[in-house]
Amino acid sequence: MASLLDSCWLYLITHFSEFQLATVGTFLIHESIFFLSGLPSIYFERSGLFSKYKIQKKSNTSEAQEKCIVRLVLYHVCVNLPVMLVSYPTFRFMGLRSSLPLPHWSVIISQIIFYFILEDFVFYWGHRILHTKWLYKHVHSIHHEYATPFGLTSEYAHPAEILFLGFATVVGPALTGPHLFTLWLWMILRVLETVEAHSGYHFPWSPSNFLPLYGGADFHDYHHRVLYTKSGNYASTFVYMDWLFGTDKGYRKLRAIEEVEGKNY
Ligand SMILES: [Zn+2]
Ligand SMILES: [Zn+2]
Repeated sequence: MASLLDSCWLYLITHFSEFQLATVGTFLIHESIFFLSGLPSIYFERSGLFSKYKIQKKSNTSEAQEKCIVRLVLYHVCVNLPVMLVSYPTFRFMGLRSSLPLPHWSVIISQIIFYFILEDFVFYWGHRILHTKWLYKHVHSIHHEYATPFGLTSEYAHPAEILFLGFATVVGPALTGPHLFTLWLWMILRVLETVEAHSGYHFPWSPSNFLPLYGGADFHDYHHRVLYTKSGNYASTFVYMDWLFGTDKGYRKLRAIEEVEGKNY
């Protein structure tokens, strides 16, 4: 298994330059994972499949879903891709490498856990700032256009917010100077996590049922459906930041009521 992975990696680094892999390669992987993981919840919403597990009764119109997709493609090409191209020298400077050997799994896993914890911390404070009056009105309200989120709305945001909160995603890798393989794996996991959090569905197999301290769809859906000054639940991945700083009180109250009513999560 390890040698197959090594051979695949060798193929990549002998056929493409590090610049191509770190920029266009990263962009293509991001697009594939994002749209493949995000499209199913649109299908579920349109077909009514899994309606039993849908968090909100409301659904989005086809026009609203299409508007989200068109805007995303535009932003990904006009904002994300140029940022990836421009930031490559910074990552190089911070120690990004793509050569063999690939890092040991213990290094990859510990770095990714560190990235998740750091990202969650930075995102929490950045997101709280975005919920102040002026920034909400002029920037963050775009992301909140969808009070009933579906997977793809996770990256639907004002370009300034893409840059602002995107910083939370790259600060960990920038500090540790990772291998490109680790960086790709981190990006894939982060995309899957945020798409799941916005999916609008809470399944019996949703990760928040198994992973302690993990927020997931029910946690973030609450953030979207409640008025922006009262919503709380600002963290991206875990639940402890909101608990520590008392911004999950409304959500906890609702969960307590739901548990009394016998709704199981
Ligand atoms: Zn928000
Ligand atoms: Zn959101």
